[in-house]
Amino acid sequence: MDCIFCKINNKEIPSEFLVDTKTVFAIKDIKPSAPVHYLIIPKEHVESIAHLEGNHSQIISELIFTARDLAVNAGLKGYKLVFNVGREGGQVIDHLHLHLLGGWNRKEDIDHMPHPRLDK
Ligand code: 5GP
Ligand code: ZN
Repeated sequence: MDCIFCKINNKEIPSEFLVDTKTVFAIKDIKPSAPVHYLIIPKEHVESIAHLEGNHSQIISELIFTARDLAVNAGLKGYKLVFNVGREGGQVIDHLHLHLLGGWNRKEDIDHMPHPRLDK
């Protein structure tokens, strides 16, 4: 299958693994959108959140806990976890992945985050 993340998982494309378990792996994003930008990826090829089935709940749980642990290890006080879903949702690679974004420490970056904040 012509899938970048399956090829990384199969070591056909060399990449540094930050986490490597039976179910998931994590890598640094090649084109980071934040000072810390990791991708947490299930080993099973599932296209997106829209393609999940009932038996995938364990995978989703492990993606989130892995992201949380990576954030702790990276010393992040706050961070964003993002799933892009479909082209209209900004998804480019059709293999489910969770973005971990963080490491902003400049006030102007935090004040201009792209998502609405309740205190504004
Ligand atoms: P999406 O837009 O599909 O949610 O995110 C795909 C992400 O994968 C993008 O942030 C992009 O920079 C990253 N990416 C694309 N190709 C590669 C690659 O070969 N290696 C790594 N580490 N990241 C990649
Ligand atoms: Zn894949």
